[in-house]
Amino acid sequence: MKKFPREYCGIFGVYGHPEAAKLTYFGLYALQHRGQESAGIVASDGKQVKEHKGMGLVPEVFNEQNLNDLTGHIAIGHVRYSTTGSSILRNAQPFVVYYLGKTLAIAHNGNIINAYRLRRQLEEDGAIFQSTMDSEIIMHLWVRYFHLGIEEGLAKALTKLKGAYSLVLMTENTLIAARDPLGFRPLCLGKLKNGAYAVASETCALDLVEAEYIRDIEPGEIVFINDQGLHSLYVPKPSRCAHCIFELIYFARPDSQIFGQNVYLFRKQQGRELAKEAPVDADFVMPFPDSGNYVALGYAEGTGLPFEMGMIRNHYVGRTFIQPSQTMRTFGVKVKLNPVKELLKGKRIVILEDSIIRGTTCRTRVKTLRAIGVKEIHLLVSCPPHRYPCYYGIDFSSRGELIAASKSIEEIREYLGLDSLHYLSMEGLLRSTNIAQENFCLACFNGDYPVSLEKDFSKDWLEK
Ligand code: SF4
Repeated sequence: MKKFPREYCGIFGVYGHPEAAKLTYFGLYALQHRGQESAGIVASDGKQVKEHKGMGLVPEVFNEQNLNDLTGHIAIGHVRYSTTGSSILRNAQPFVVYYLGKTLAIAHNGNIINAYRLRRQLEEDGAIFQSTMDSEIIMHLWVRYFHLGIEEGLAKALTKLKGAYSLVLMTENTLIAARDPLGFRPLCLGKLKNGAYAVASETCALDLVEAEYIRDIEPGEIVFINDQGLHSLYVPKPSRCAHCIFELIYFARPDSQIFGQNVYLFRKQQGRELAKEAPVDADFVMPFPDSGNYVALGYAEGTGLPFEMGMIRNHYVGRTFIQPSQTMRTFGVKVKLNPVKELLKGKRIVILEDSIIRGTTCRTRVKTLRAIGVKEIHLLVSCPPHRYPCYYGIDFSSRGELIAASKSIEEIREYLGLDSLHYLSMEGLLRSTNIAQENFCLACFNGDYPVSLEKDFSKDWLEK
């Protein structure tokens, strides 16, 4: 059973390395937590562009043979969890198009909220689409402005988009990285020892390929890297940013630095803030692994309570597993985490969790703990209640999916079967970071959407 919300996409690119595709393979490996449905790499030797994509995890899609075939010094790659477009190979990325003798490729993380209107206009103008992805719209817009030049044309195309995008693109001889003007999703630039450049969703991917982190791609920046070196164009941007705070809370790997902040240290500080807001008299503190681990460490440090790993994770659970019948279904929920009965029986415990979206998984876990005789269960959540949907690439896009949209905190506590429940306050959350409040998107907590929604926006429009 997948935890909800699920990850979405990770992107990676290399320019200037003789085995660019193999580096990209490792980069995608490091970003696997951002998408497990499909993976793909496109590589170029300056003349010829080759691609390989497939459904599944990075090591399931790639082998020595198909990586050896992806020759060249430029490559881009993508791991995907679908935020628009269904989960089929046709929608796997990078997406490659051919136009006026040129080969162009794109890999996209984020969600374009005016996609419906843009696609409708393009189709009425005669454009034919192969997929249901936002990314294909960007390619259509780009080639429409080719008369301005490849670089200026892309800049013009990006001004038409509303919403969240971090992109890597390539032509036969250029690697391009771009980020939306509000900087919703992370994207960083690194340099390898041989002088090659790497671009990645998160710095953990730079670490794996031994690229030194140089800087983040700025919101609104488009970076072009080719045999002339590196230069940038900028699309107009507002005075503020809208970094997705949920990247720091949940999505990004703890060893990454995103938005100029280390994720591990941020999460530990959340735990310390929770210790100030909600100290509990208990025997020990434990996380729901893995996402609650670092908050639990911070809470233990802040309260002086012992830290224990009361539930053990099965690291070999795949993306999906077969649930052959109703009677087997309960095993499915339990397969990922198993409690250490001898440690937990008769104890008063504090559990740290990063978020409660629907509450169904959490409820099952609490029931399991009660069944083995845990005396008291206090749950602390490291962010405020999720009351509003996300339209910028995170998969909780209707209020009906959010338990806190319809229930009070007391009702949630009762539904989950807890002795107490506390959510970190917005003030506590913001105190955990060194980034100013106005530079975050906090819309799923407070309903204040940094990019207004199109009237006709619907996540499912392409599926109809
Ligand atoms: Fe991130 Fe929430 Fe904003 Fe979506 S609404 S981009 S999940 S902070």
